[in-house]
Amino acid sequence: MDIIIEYKDKKNSSATLRNGTLIVRISSRITNANQQVHIASLTKRFQHHQEQHKAAPLIHNESYNFYGLKTLTLKIEESASSRTSIKIDAHQLIIKKAHSQTDSDLRAKIAKKITNHLENDLIHYVYAISEATLNHDPEDVYFKNLKSRWGHCHYHYESITLSTKLAWVPKSHFNYVIIHELCHLIHPNHSAKYWQLVKTYCPNYLKLRKELVKWQ
Ligand SMILES: [Zn+2]
Repeated sequence: MDIIIEYKDKKNSSATLRNGTLIVRISSRITNANQQVHIASLTKRFQHHQEQHKAAPLIHNESYNFYGLKTLTLKIEESASSRTSIKIDAHQLIIKKAHSQTDSDLRAKIAKKITNHLENDLIHYVYAISEATLNHDPEDVYFKNLKSRWGHCHYHYESITLSTKLAWVPKSHFNYVIIHELCHLIHPNHSAKYWQLVKTYCPNYLKLRKELVKWQ
């Protein structure tokens, strides 16, 4: 992790992560020794945070369950070309991995591929959840590579969009996100009434919601 240190005429020190670079803003009003202490503690805190949130590396010959709907064994080979290619057969996900491919980009690529592959099953699945719970079907269901959220409800169009990143989460968590967005068809906000509705169909939603951070 790259670190940039800026000195600011402010009372407090702070840090933010931008495109993989940690920007540490240190108060210029404190002593040199204290500045060093602040730099060390802020850096340590962010490194720890990154470790906690780092996606687990993908393992050759290991089986993965996608969306809780399909299990495939990963076959990972180094590719001679500069592009990564992914193929799906009945039981395997065959990856020819470019040397420069990062694990997080590879996860996004796999998620996109598997989502296209399972698209009809996924849409049916969302409608099955809808019928088993609110029984208020969305007009449309989309799967997209959303950057910073698990799902989105377009209240006026009565449609929902779900993140392709959900490919990596367990079925219980996937179900929670579906119910979360379906409930927005009734209540577009996060009001008490809204959460009450979510709780009706997903009693342990608080736990699931908290755990989702692991896959972000
Ligand atoms: Zn929401």
